[in-house]
Amino acid sequence: MTTSTLDSTREKLTRAGLRYSAERIASLVEEAVKEEMSLPQFLESVLSWEIQRREEERVAMYLRLSSLPPGKTLDTFDFTFQPAVSKAKIETLATCEYVKRGENIIFLGPPGVGKTHLSAALGLKAIECGYRVLFIRLDELIRTLTEDSASPGRARRRRRYYRAPLVIIDEVGFQPLSAEEANLFFHFVSDLYERSSLILTTNQSFTEWPQVFSQNESLTVAILDRLLHHAHLISIKGRSWRLRKLEEAFQFMKEGFSTHKETQSTVMGAPS
Ligand code: ADP
Ligand code: MG
Repeated sequence: MTTSTLDSTREKLTRAGLRYSAERIASLVEEAVKEEMSLPQFLESVLSWEIQRREEERVAMYLRLSSLPPGKTLDTFDFTFQPAVSKAKIETLATCEYVKRGENIIFLGPPGVGKTHLSAALGLKAIECGYRVLFIRLDELIRTLTEDSASPGRARRRRRYYRAPLVIIDEVGFQPLSAEEANLFFHFVSDLYERSSLILTTNQSFTEWPQVFSQNESLTVAILDRLLHHAHLISIKGRSWRLRKLEEAFQFMKEGFSTHKETQSTVMGAPS
Protein backbone atom coordinates (compact mmCIF):
# COMPACT_ATOMS: atom_id res chain seq x y z
CA MET A 1 0.00 0.00 0.00
CA THR A 2 1.46 3.38 -0.96
CA THR A 3 1.59 6.28 1.52
CA SER A 4 -1.07 8.23 -0.35
CA THR A 5 -3.44 5.22 -0.45
CA LEU A 6 -2.84 4.73 3.27
CA ASP A 7 -3.57 8.41 3.94
CA SER A 8 -6.77 8.29 1.93
CA THR A 9 -7.88 5.02 3.64
CA ARG A 10 -7.14 6.57 7.02
CA GLU A 11 -9.25 9.57 6.16
CA LYS A 12 -12.14 7.43 4.92
CA LEU A 13 -12.01 5.22 8.01
CA THR A 14 -12.19 8.36 10.18
CA ARG A 15 -15.12 9.70 8.17
CA ALA A 16 -16.87 6.34 8.52
CA GLY A 17 -16.45 6.63 12.31
CA LEU A 18 -13.82 3.85 12.57
CA ARG A 19 -11.29 6.02 14.39
CA TYR A 20 -9.31 3.29 16.16
CA SER A 21 -8.72 1.44 12.87
CA ALA A 22 -7.80 4.77 11.28
CA GLU A 23 -5.16 5.36 13.97
CA ARG A 24 -3.61 1.92 13.45
CA ILE A 25 -4.20 1.26 9.76
CA ALA A 26 -0.50 1.23 8.85
CA SER A 27 0.40 -1.43 11.42
CA LEU A 28 -2.76 -3.43 10.68
CA VAL A 29 -1.72 -3.59 7.02
CA GLU A 30 1.86 -4.47 8.00
CA GLU A 31 0.63 -7.31 10.24
CA ALA A 32 -1.65 -8.61 7.47
CA VAL A 33 1.26 -8.74 5.02
CA LYS A 34 3.57 -10.40 7.56
CA GLU A 35 1.00 -13.04 8.49
CA GLU A 36 -0.06 -13.50 4.84
CA MET A 37 -3.72 -12.87 5.69
CA SER A 38 -6.44 -13.38 3.11
CA LEU A 39 -8.65 -10.35 2.35
CA PRO A 40 -11.53 -11.64 4.53
CA GLN A 41 -9.04 -12.24 7.38
CA PHE A 42 -7.69 -8.70 7.01
CA LEU A 43 -11.19 -7.23 7.10
CA GLU A 44 -11.92 -9.33 10.18
CA SER A 45 -8.75 -8.12 11.94
CA VAL A 46 -9.56 -4.43 11.23
CA LEU A 47 -13.13 -4.79 12.54
CA SER A 48 -12.05 -6.83 15.59
CA TRP A 49 -9.52 -4.14 16.50
CA GLU A 50 -12.16 -1.41 16.19
CA ILE A 51 -14.69 -3.33 18.33
CA GLN A 52 -12.10 -4.26 20.97
CA ARG A 53 -10.87 -0.67 21.38
CA ARG A 54 -14.41 0.74 21.51
CA GLU A 55 -15.31 -1.78 24.20
CA GLU A 56 -12.20 -0.86 26.23
CA GLU A 57 -13.11 2.83 25.94
CA ARG A 58 -16.69 2.15 27.00
CA VAL A 59 -15.62 0.14 30.06
CA ALA A 60 -13.12 2.87 31.04
CA MET A 61 -15.77 5.57 30.68
CA TYR A 62 -18.46 3.64 32.60
CA LEU A 63 -15.88 2.93 35.33
CA ARG A 64 -15.02 6.64 35.63
CA LEU A 65 -18.70 7.53 35.93
CA SER A 66 -19.52 4.73 38.38
CA SER A 67 -17.50 5.93 41.41
CA LEU A 68 -16.73 2.25 42.12
CA PRO A 69 -13.88 1.81 44.63
CA PRO A 70 -10.81 0.59 42.71
CA GLY A 71 -9.22 -2.83 43.03
CA LYS A 72 -12.29 -4.70 44.34
CA THR A 73 -12.66 -7.64 41.98
CA LEU A 74 -13.92 -11.21 42.31
CA ASP A 75 -10.38 -12.43 41.56
CA THR A 76 -9.02 -10.63 44.61
CA PHE A 77 -11.76 -11.93 46.93
CA ASP A 78 -10.59 -14.86 49.03
CA PHE A 79 -13.63 -17.15 49.18
CA THR A 80 -11.80 -19.64 51.42
CA PHE A 81 -11.58 -16.97 54.14
CA GLN A 82 -15.36 -16.41 53.99
CA PRO A 83 -17.04 -19.85 53.66
CA ALA A 84 -20.45 -18.28 54.44
CA VAL A 85 -20.35 -16.79 50.93
CA SER A 86 -21.23 -19.23 48.17
CA LYS A 87 -18.73 -18.73 45.36
CA ALA A 88 -21.14 -20.42 42.94
CA LYS A 89 -23.92 -17.98 43.87
CA ILE A 90 -21.64 -14.96 43.37
CA GLU A 91 -20.44 -16.36 40.05
CA THR A 92 -24.05 -16.79 38.92
CA LEU A 93 -24.76 -13.18 39.88
CA ALA A 94 -21.63 -12.12 37.98
CA THR A 95 -23.36 -13.15 34.73
CA CYS A 96 -25.61 -10.07 35.30
CA GLU A 97 -28.90 -11.85 34.56
CA TYR A 98 -30.34 -10.25 37.71
CA VAL A 99 -29.78 -6.76 36.20
CA LYS A 100 -31.65 -7.81 33.07
CA ARG A 101 -34.52 -8.99 35.30
CA GLY A 102 -34.44 -5.87 37.52
CA GLU A 103 -33.69 -7.90 40.67
CA ASN A 104 -31.90 -6.65 43.77
CA ILE A 105 -29.08 -7.98 45.93
CA ILE A 106 -28.73 -7.33 49.63
CA PHE A 107 -25.48 -8.07 51.47
CA LEU A 108 -26.05 -8.36 55.21
CA GLY A 109 -23.33 -8.72 57.81
CA PRO A 110 -21.03 -7.20 60.40
CA PRO A 111 -18.16 -4.86 59.43
CA GLY A 112 -15.17 -6.17 57.52
CA VAL A 113 -16.71 -9.35 56.07
CA GLY A 114 -16.48 -8.18 52.45
CA LYS A 115 -19.91 -6.67 51.70
CA THR A 116 -18.51 -3.57 49.99
CA HIS A 117 -15.84 -5.60 48.19
CA LEU A 118 -18.35 -8.06 46.72
CA SER A 119 -20.85 -5.37 45.75
CA ALA A 120 -18.14 -3.37 43.97
CA ALA A 121 -16.86 -6.53 42.25
CA LEU A 122 -20.39 -7.26 40.98
CA GLY A 123 -20.62 -3.62 39.88
CA LEU A 124 -17.50 -4.09 37.78
CA LYS A 125 -18.95 -7.24 36.25
CA ALA A 126 -22.14 -5.35 35.39
CA ILE A 127 -20.07 -2.69 33.60
CA GLU A 128 -18.32 -5.43 31.65
CA CYS A 129 -21.76 -6.84 30.76
CA GLY A 130 -22.59 -3.42 29.26
CA TYR A 131 -24.57 -1.75 32.07
CA ARG A 132 -24.08 1.71 33.53
CA VAL A 133 -23.48 1.48 37.27
CA LEU A 134 -23.47 3.96 40.13
CA PHE A 135 -21.81 3.21 43.46
CA ILE A 136 -22.84 5.54 46.27
CA ARG A 137 -22.85 5.47 50.08
CA LEU A 138 -26.28 5.96 51.64
CA ASP A 139 -25.28 9.24 53.32
CA GLU A 140 -24.07 10.67 49.97
CA LEU A 141 -27.24 9.48 48.24
CA ILE A 142 -29.39 11.14 50.89
CA ARG A 143 -27.40 14.36 50.55
CA THR A 144 -27.93 14.31 46.76
CA LEU A 145 -31.63 13.47 47.08
CA THR A 146 -32.09 16.29 49.59
CA GLU A 147 -30.35 18.79 47.30
CA ASP A 148 -32.36 17.56 44.32
CA SER A 149 -35.72 17.49 46.08
CA ALA A 150 -36.28 21.14 45.17
CA SER A 151 -35.57 20.65 41.44
CA PRO A 152 -38.38 19.82 39.02
CA GLY A 153 -39.11 16.13 38.40
CA ARG A 154 -37.83 16.26 34.84
CA ALA A 155 -34.42 17.51 35.96
CA ARG A 156 -34.29 14.86 38.69
CA ARG A 157 -34.99 12.06 36.23
CA ARG A 158 -31.92 13.06 34.23
CA ARG A 159 -29.69 12.38 37.25
CA ARG A 160 -27.21 9.54 37.17
CA TYR A 161 -28.91 7.67 40.00
CA TYR A 162 -32.14 7.49 37.98
CA ARG A 163 -30.53 6.47 34.72
CA ALA A 164 -28.16 3.70 35.85
CA PRO A 165 -29.62 0.20 35.46
CA LEU A 166 -27.63 -0.78 38.58
CA VAL A 167 -27.28 1.41 41.66
CA ILE A 168 -25.13 0.15 44.52
CA ILE A 169 -25.98 1.73 47.87
CA ASP A 170 -23.29 1.10 50.43
CA GLU A 171 -23.55 1.32 54.21
CA VAL A 172 -27.29 1.29 54.80
CA GLY A 173 -27.85 1.43 58.55
CA PHE A 174 -24.62 3.04 59.66
CA GLN A 175 -26.44 6.24 60.53
CA PRO A 176 -30.13 6.69 61.32
CA LEU A 177 -32.07 8.91 58.92
CA SER A 178 -34.43 11.73 59.83
CA ALA A 179 -38.15 11.40 58.96
CA GLU A 180 -37.66 13.55 55.86
CA GLU A 181 -34.56 11.60 54.72
CA ALA A 182 -36.33 8.27 55.25
CA ASN A 183 -39.19 9.54 53.13
CA LEU A 184 -36.79 10.59 50.33
CA PHE A 185 -35.22 7.14 50.41
CA PHE A 186 -38.64 5.48 50.21
CA HIS A 187 -39.51 7.53 47.10
CA PHE A 188 -36.13 6.72 45.57
CA VAL A 189 -36.62 2.95 46.07
CA SER A 190 -40.20 3.19 44.75
CA ASP A 191 -39.09 5.09 41.64
CA LEU A 192 -36.46 2.49 40.84
CA TYR A 193 -38.66 -0.50 41.71
CA GLU A 194 -38.67 -3.08 38.88
CA ARG A 195 -36.92 -0.53 36.63
CA SER A 196 -33.34 -0.64 37.89
CA SER A 197 -31.49 -3.12 40.07
CA LEU A 198 -30.21 -2.18 43.49
CA ILE A 199 -27.36 -3.70 45.45
CA LEU A 200 -27.46 -2.74 49.11
CA THR A 201 -24.96 -3.43 51.84
CA THR A 202 -26.07 -3.26 55.45
CA ASN A 203 -24.73 -4.13 58.88
CA GLN A 204 -28.23 -4.12 60.42
CA SER A 205 -30.68 -7.01 60.38
CA PHE A 206 -34.11 -6.15 58.93
CA THR A 207 -35.70 -6.15 62.40
CA GLU A 208 -33.39 -3.23 63.24
CA TRP A 209 -34.26 -1.27 60.10
CA PRO A 210 -37.06 0.79 61.70
CA GLN A 211 -34.31 2.39 63.83
CA VAL A 212 -32.56 3.41 60.61
CA PHE A 213 -35.71 4.85 59.06
CA SER A 214 -36.73 7.25 61.78
CA GLN A 215 -38.66 4.63 63.82
CA ASN A 216 -41.33 4.66 61.10
CA GLU A 217 -42.39 1.01 60.93
CA SER A 218 -44.92 1.31 58.11
CA LEU A 219 -42.41 3.21 55.94
CA THR A 220 -39.73 0.61 56.72
CA VAL A 221 -42.12 -2.20 55.75
CA ALA A 222 -42.94 -0.36 52.50
CA ILE A 223 -39.21 0.04 51.71
CA LEU A 224 -38.48 -3.62 52.53
CA ASP A 225 -41.50 -4.75 50.54
CA ARG A 226 -40.10 -3.18 47.38
CA LEU A 227 -36.50 -4.15 48.04
CA LEU A 228 -37.20 -7.77 48.87
CA HIS A 229 -39.82 -8.49 46.21
CA HIS A 230 -37.22 -9.73 43.72
CA ALA A 231 -34.06 -9.98 45.80
CA HIS A 232 -31.05 -12.15 46.43
CA LEU A 233 -30.15 -12.08 50.13
CA ILE A 234 -26.57 -12.78 50.99
CA SER A 235 -25.97 -12.96 54.69
CA ILE A 236 -22.32 -13.07 55.69
CA LYS A 237 -21.71 -14.27 59.21
CA GLY A 238 -17.98 -14.53 59.23
CA ARG A 239 -14.70 -13.10 60.40
CA SER A 240 -13.57 -9.59 59.60
CA TRP A 241 -10.86 -9.43 56.96
CA ARG A 242 -9.68 -6.17 58.52
CA LEU A 243 -9.27 -7.77 61.93
CA ARG A 244 -7.70 -11.02 60.75
CA LYS A 245 -4.15 -9.70 61.09
CA LEU A 246 -4.98 -8.50 64.58
CA GLU A 247 -6.52 -11.90 65.45
CA GLU A 248 -3.44 -13.65 64.07
CA ALA A 249 -1.18 -11.33 66.07
CA PHE A 250 -3.18 -12.03 69.27
CA GLN A 251 -3.06 -15.77 68.54
CA PHE A 252 0.68 -15.55 67.99
CA MET A 253 1.11 -13.58 71.23
CA LYS A 254 -1.06 -16.10 73.16
CA GLU A 255 0.86 -19.06 71.75
CA GLY A 256 4.17 -17.33 72.32
CA PHE A 257 3.12 -16.49 75.87
CA SER A 258 2.03 -20.05 76.72
CA THR A 259 5.19 -21.51 75.18
CA HIS A 260 7.14 -19.01 77.22
CA LYS A 261 5.21 -20.04 80.38
CA GLU A 262 5.76 -23.74 79.61
CA THR A 263 9.47 -23.12 79.15
CA GLN A 264 9.53 -21.21 82.42
CA SER A 265 7.67 -23.91 84.36
CA THR A 266 9.94 -26.59 82.93
CA VAL A 267 12.92 -24.56 84.01
CA MET A 268 11.31 -23.82 87.39
CA GLY A 269 10.27 -27.45 87.83
CA ALA A 270 13.66 -28.75 86.75
CA PRO A 271 15.62 -30.54 89.46
CA SER A 272 18.37 -28.37 90.77
P1 ADP B 1 -17.54 -4.58 54.78
O1 ADP B 1 -18.10 -3.76 53.69
O2 ADP B 1 -18.28 -5.87 55.01
O3 ADP B 1 -17.35 -3.80 56.05
P2 ADP B 1 -15.21 -4.58 53.10
O4 ADP B 1 -15.73 -5.17 51.85
O5 ADP B 1 -15.01 -3.11 53.13
O6 ADP B 1 -16.08 -5.04 54.35
O7 ADP B 1 -13.84 -5.31 53.46
C1 ADP B 1 -12.84 -4.70 54.27
C2 ADP B 1 -11.50 -4.83 53.57
O8 ADP B 1 -11.11 -6.20 53.53
C3 ADP B 1 -11.52 -4.35 52.14
O9 ADP B 1 -10.25 -3.80 51.83
C4 ADP B 1 -11.75 -5.65 51.33
O10 ADP B 1 -11.16 -5.55 50.04
C5 ADP B 1 -11.03 -6.68 52.19
N1 ADP B 1 -11.67 -8.00 52.18
C6 ADP B 1 -12.77 -8.36 52.89
N2 ADP B 1 -13.04 -9.67 52.73
C7 ADP B 1 -12.10 -10.14 51.88
C8 ADP B 1 -11.84 -11.43 51.32
N3 ADP B 1 -12.58 -12.50 51.63
N4 ADP B 1 -10.79 -11.54 50.46
C9 ADP B 1 -10.01 -10.48 50.17
N5 ADP B 1 -10.19 -9.24 50.68
C10 ADP B 1 -11.22 -9.06 51.54
MG1 MG C 1 -18.58 -1.74 53.71
